[in-house]
Amino acid sequence: MRAVDLLRRKRDGQPLSAEQIACFVAGATQGTWPDYQLGAMLMALFLRGMTSQETADLTTAMIASGERFDWGSDAVRAVDKHSTGGVGDKTSLILAPLAAACGALVPMMSGRGLGHTGGTLDKLEAIPGFRVALEPDEARAILYRVGCVMMSQTTRIVPADRILYALRDVTATVESIPLISASIMSKKIAEGICGLVLDVKVGHGAFMKTLDEARALVQSLLAIGRAHGVQTQAVITAMDQPLGAACGNALEVAEAIEVLKGGGPAEVRELSLELASRMVTLAGIPEARRRVENALSSGAGLETFGRILEAQGGDRRVIDQPTLLPVAPHREAIYAPRAGFFEGWHAEAVGRAVVALGGGRDRAEDRIDPAVGMVLQARRGDRVQAGELLATLHYRDSQRLAQARALLAEAGPIADNEPTALPLIYESWD
Ligand code: URA
Repeated sequence: MRAVDLLRRKRDGQPLSAEQIACFVAGATQGTWPDYQLGAMLMALFLRGMTSQETADLTTAMIASGERFDWGSDAVRAVDKHSTGGVGDKTSLILAPLAAACGALVPMMSGRGLGHTGGTLDKLEAIPGFRVALEPDEARAILYRVGCVMMSQTTRIVPADRILYALRDVTATVESIPLISASIMSKKIAEGICGLVLDVKVGHGAFMKTLDEARALVQSLLAIGRAHGVQTQAVITAMDQPLGAACGNALEVAEAIEVLKGGGPAEVRELSLELASRMVTLAGIPEARRRVENALSSGAGLETFGRILEAQGGDRRVIDQPTLLPVAPHREAIYAPRAGFFEGWHAEAVGRAVVALGGGRDRAEDRIDPAVGMVLQARRGDRVQAGELLATLHYRDSQRLAQARALLAEAGPIADNEPTALPLIYESWD
């Protein structure tokens, strides 16, 4: 099969067969297609679109490009969650131990933050000593011992995604629902799970800006899950404002611990309970919501979190002494310029401000500062007085602080009238 023939076929709007798609993915993984032909194919797929069969076939070929975990007869309990990315979203740190404490197995492979959205691996690495790069045998041992392992994608899992994603990044072909779907689902299915909960974010801080876009992504992801025999549920959740108060890696770990102790912001707790309950249901465990609530109130989830830290080299003492987490040397308060109703912090601007402070990355190779970030004191709908505290920036470098402040100049509007309340969860699919 010649690359140029497949390119011509897709360019002219003809669908590709499973075999043809496998040839393209093998060309990427084995290096037999040069980058210009891979890039041309990605653009043809982007512009012509893909049928659901093509998308499922692309996912299959991407999974087959590497290894796949196999949990044998325990696969029926193996579940995970995927979020399409947001600001302040620390729910993975809460729901994974909660679901594990209820008897699910959670082999969670996560990503790093890129652009204004955060990533679970960066948050975990804010914990002194925590290791996310695990060999498959170690990951397996931790999963069976603790019920949960939180790791980075190994080089042996879906290598095609690494190659194709890097090319999509430089050929303006990231924003394609079929390509995004195959990328996300190949990595999740390669975890060997039987159940997956998708948290598709919508709003100006999310990849998907409108409900219609979010619904289209959900449908595409659900279809792939079905085609691969993975029971898949989905929720569309709000990402116009950051989730919770803490934004920035160590600050978010501290907030996740607060939630596991029974405190923390109500919306973080509620979304974590909702997603964890769905995971436990998919693991075939009855009365999931009651069990998950019980795991939270009894401290079993917190205990499992501590065991994950111990198993992966993290300093467990951070649970009782959050000051052992990295702490930024300086604070700067942002005050309300006038009285009125606070309309909420703009999620994308807050995410960009955290990146400007050094807490995120614009390019995959950037190093991050785990200590910096923002704590949001005011929430949408709060009645505020002039001079009232709206947020606190945790920073190290005053030049970076100036950049962050500039990004936040318009990001916390105050109005005369009370804004309407926004839902946390817009829609769900069981
Ligand atoms: N996340 C992924 O894993 N892949 C994409 O293509 C987009 C977001």
